[in-house]
Amino acid sequence: MHPVTFHCVHYLLSVGELSQLPPDRGAEVAFAGRSNAGKSSAINALCGRRGIAFVSRTPGRTQLINFFRLGAGQYLVDLPGYGYANAPLALRARWEALIGAYLQQRRALRGLILVMDARHPLTPLDRRMLDWFASTRRPVHALLSKADKLSRQAGERQRVETQEMLSRLYPTTSVQLFSSTAHIGLEQARGALATMLEPRDGTEDHVQDATPDGGRIGP
Ligand code: GDP
Repeated sequence: MHPVTFHCVHYLLSVGELSQLPPDRGAEVAFAGRSNAGKSSAINALCGRRGIAFVSRTPGRTQLINFFRLGAGQYLVDLPGYGYANAPLALRARWEALIGAYLQQRRALRGLILVMDARHPLTPLDRRMLDWFASTRRPVHALLSKADKLSRQAGERQRVETQEMLSRLYPTTSVQLFSSTAHIGLEQARGALATMLEPRDGTEDHVQDATPDGGRIGP
């Protein structure tokens, strides 16, 4: 067993082309979400260290797929945010080609954590992500972020409605309320992440590292 060590996360590398992806082995969980949905804050809160996802926000990296190493053969993958109002068409097309192919073809990708603002989940671009990923039949765990901005009752209603809608369309989804600032749902989210990264019987892929030295690259 390789328990997930959330506090030991290290930045590994950033990728802008499919050809630059690290070897397709080990276990990865990708984080996706509209820009401003709270994805970076969620990654930081889950990993218990400020500034981990900060690397993903440095100039030049916001449109890249950023890999972090959690443990032996276990990776957290921060996908570029989507939904920028003024993104040029060419950039959007590039993003679609990169992210669509990554989501549909990556064998090491065990599951997707979809971060959506609890006040307006399931935007058309969120659905696009789900549609791409649904064909893989792998699990999606939705974090309804900024739950502190809703009353307990409104949050719960939103969770149930989102779960119902998703269950109809995408059978392997689960939904929870989450807040990075108010520390709502952190353990539940860590549990979902750890389950996706769990080693599978009969495979050795969990002990392999995606980089030859398994080490740290970059800052
Ligand atoms: P990203 O673009 O998806 O990575 O979003 P960020 O993590 O940068 O968050 C976008 C904005 O939402 C920032 O101003 C954060 O301070 C705020 N934010 C993120 N998470 C929460 C949360 O749990 N509660 C509240 N109230 N604000 C949050």
